[in-house]
Amino acid sequence: MENEILFLLPLVLLPVFFAMGWFAARVDMKTVLKQAKTVPAGFYKSLDALVDRNSGKAARELADVIDQQPQSYDLNLTLGKLYRQRGENDKAINMHRALLDSPDTVGEKRDRVLFELGENYQSAGLVDRAEQIFLGLQQGDMARDARQHLLSIYQQDRDWKKAIETAQILSADKQTYQFEIAQFYCELAQAALFQSDYDAARGFVGRALEANKKCARANMVLGDIESKQGRFVEAIEAYGAIEQQNHAYLSMVGEKLYDAYDALGKPQEGLSRLTGYMKTFPELDLMNVVYEKSLLLNGEAEAARLAVELVRGRPDLKGVYRLLGLKLSDMNPAWKADADMMRAVVGRQLQKSVMYRCRNCHFKSQVFFWHCPACNKWETFTPNRIEV
Ligand SMILES: [Zn+2]
Repeated sequence: MENEILFLLPLVLLPVFFAMGWFAARVDMKTVLKQAKTVPAGFYKSLDALVDRNSGKAARELADVIDQQPQSYDLNLTLGKLYRQRGENDKAINMHRALLDSPDTVGEKRDRVLFELGENYQSAGLVDRAEQIFLGLQQGDMARDARQHLLSIYQQDRDWKKAIETAQILSADKQTYQFEIAQFYCELAQAALFQSDYDAARGFVGRALEANKKCARANMVLGDIESKQGRFVEAIEAYGAIEQQNHAYLSMVGEKLYDAYDALGKPQEGLSRLTGYMKTFPELDLMNVVYEKSLLLNGEAEAARLAVELVRGRPDLKGVYRLLGLKLSDMNPAWKADADMMRAVVGRQLQKSVMYRCRNCHFKSQVFFWHCPACNKWETFTPNRIEV
């Protein structure tokens, strides 16, 4: 009998399960409909305008929604961000300040609004105010984001000591900033060298290499310090160490390396070292200095022979331009005018298409930057000019 009841139980309960399922579905639908009705149409219109990349319309629609629901924290926050993105910093600042005055904006919500306000000030160029706000957010959930903004402010202000302190705190977390810290120390070293404070400059170079032993810039500055102090053997050693760190940067010290050999009375040795570099690393932008020094030391014929040999080893636009210049003087007069014209065309192309380029954001420039002015990354520029 008991077995029979157990057997029948599922059948008896079937309508109950059915009723529960129907009820659950009904409640769910009701909730969905209710929620849909509570979202104002303007919200969807704003979203639609955002998808169409019409941020002006999106902001207007969202502002209308907020007029009907002035207490909505999230919407106020978002509209402020939208204003900032559109460059309407004053509106963004007013929006977020009003939100701060609301009695509901406490705890984490308050930190979030303060962070947005800091970003508004930074975007409006009111960097001191932004810094004060980010400094006030060193505890809590927004701490890491606030420090990253502080780091960007200190770099913008060239306040390298504060940048180092901030980057060191940030490095304690998962991401390290050793690469950047080394560059900040190099900036300090370069400034100290500029003021002929050699001891301080050496100290900063040492810290840069401690942070990143591959920092070629640190050895460049060290070579400059040694040269300034007349210690040319040590200068050669410092510049030469770049070969082991990142040989691509050797072209940036080519002339200084030669000058150090020259100061020791060994200019030919300096020239052979540079020529050797060009043969081993053909991408190095050393042709000008090699040609000029060769002309100075060994005369026109030898300089031309060496240049032709190096260009043939790795023909490119820069090389072709030089080759045409070298060949002009012993060219058949019938060809000379045309060759001269071709050289001018190559020269114009050279101006337009041979540059330094940021590997991160592809910003191009005739001037080399350690810190990309477009994307604010460090050491992203190609150390040698390339065809872009
Ligand atoms: Zn860049």
